[in-house]
Amino acid sequence: MSGARPEIQVRNPRSGEADYTLVPADRSAVDDACTGLRGNQGAWASAGLEHRISVLRAFAKSLEENRESLVEALVLDTGRRAISIVEVDIIAPAIERWVKIAKELEEDPVGRSSALPFIAYTITKRPYGLVGIISPWNFPLTLSIMDALPALLAGCAVIIKPSEVTPRFAAPLRRVIADTPGLGGVFTVIDGDGETGTALVDSVDVICFTGSVPTGRAVGEQAARNFIPAFLELGGKDPAIVLDSADVERAATALLRGSILNAGQACQSIERIYVAKAIYEDFLARLIEKAQAVTLNWPDIGEGHLGPIIFERQAAVLVKQIDDARAKGAVVHTGGEIEEHGGFWLRPTVITGLTNDMKIMQEETFGPLLPVIPFDSVDDAVAMANDSLYGLSACVFAGTEEEAIAVGRRIEAGGISINDAALTALVYEAEKSAFKLSGMGASRMGRSGYMRFFRKQSFMVNTAEVFPIDQFDEGKAE
Ligand code: NAD
Repeated sequence: MSGARPEIQVRNPRSGEADYTLVPADRSAVDDACTGLRGNQGAWASAGLEHRISVLRAFAKSLEENRESLVEALVLDTGRRAISIVEVDIIAPAIERWVKIAKELEEDPVGRSSALPFIAYTITKRPYGLVGIISPWNFPLTLSIMDALPALLAGCAVIIKPSEVTPRFAAPLRRVIADTPGLGGVFTVIDGDGETGTALVDSVDVICFTGSVPTGRAVGEQAARNFIPAFLELGGKDPAIVLDSADVERAATALLRGSILNAGQACQSIERIYVAKAIYEDFLARLIEKAQAVTLNWPDIGEGHLGPIIFERQAAVLVKQIDDARAKGAVVHTGGEIEEHGGFWLRPTVITGLTNDMKIMQEETFGPLLPVIPFDSVDDAVAMANDSLYGLSACVFAGTEEEAIAVGRRIEAGGISINDAALTALVYEAEKSAFKLSGMGASRMGRSGYMRFFRKQSFMVNTAEVFPIDQFDEGKAE
């Protein structure tokens, strides 16, 4: 079992001190857990959708009963409170959303072959056996659970491996699972780091990975060697385009929120802002004013808008991007300096005087930076927005929906918010694919987010005569 590997000391993002010890599961512990789950999955799948729905609703009830301990653990993991509460409270409605989708898709399609109408077919759904989920640290609970719910409803067993940066919520989550009758045999959470994740990819039938591009690439390569599907949800460098017809006040309000929510530690954060020259000065003045009004949730976690930088190493990334821009002549209007209070905080940092090839415009930031570049023509704006290795999501602001959507169609990204920012985090029904290095595989949202956990098995029934081999005799071909 686990314990053979060295313990990991986990840093608290508010105090900066190590106050938690993680014992990463080794390969044999992962294998044992997976063997147990596989042994129970067949009965889970054959128990039927109604049974699985009732167990997941009991899970929602158990979450409600354990809400405080889960929230407290998430607060220690992330240093922010309001979003931790949201992370817990969105699970019950999410279960109902997936239940609705699962019911809509329950019936197996039947039909007849168009080439051979005497052959009827039924297309059945066969759930994969065991789904592995590897999650990052920025929304530790949300990004662990969101793929688990549809997979469990589909009839799969599920094992989650959270990030070693934010592992405290795993124990209360295990309690919630243990308190849910009928769930523990097919759903588990295992502690660990990258090595544990590597072992997991060797032990499951599907891997759902959310994290960085380099790790996603390693996971994708390993999954390919194992011939298992890998759904990769990776990094982003989301652009915003604000056209001269846009409501400037609305754009500034939405873009500030879309850039700094969760201290910018969100894959769908707006990380580049392109503004039409005609409204640039007005937009910039409003953005700076709004950014200056933002407060930190320090020293009191019960107040303020911005939590700490959760992962210590991320602070260095932010400093590198700001310093690089400054050295090349950029102007920092707000924020710009990491504030150390044990942990690290950064106020919204509005920066101008940039060119699109700078690090701050090209590399993922994952922090509250708002770099703004004015543009002359829509073609220039679209070209700059598409000049990126990433293609997760984007947003466009314009005077009319039609104008915004017409520009949005030219952007190489999966989720385009119109006259608002980062809506992909709030809208769960809208399917979207990641473009470029931002990911791979079917959408985790909407119906495909459920259907991707099934293999299809078709039954083809011929009630007429069978073809004799003579029908394929070379001598009879005309
Ligand atoms: P990361 O890639 O460093 O780690 C993610 C997870 O992978 C962790 O649980 C880690 O332990 C595990 N891991 C590390 N090495 C592994 C290996 N070789 N095999 C298997 N697992 C391994 O990412 P992070 O720093 O935790 O998260 C931040 C990144 O996540 C950012 O790039 C962000 O954009 C991305 N992200 C994407 C989405 C999305 O939906 N597209 C959502 C949130 C975060």
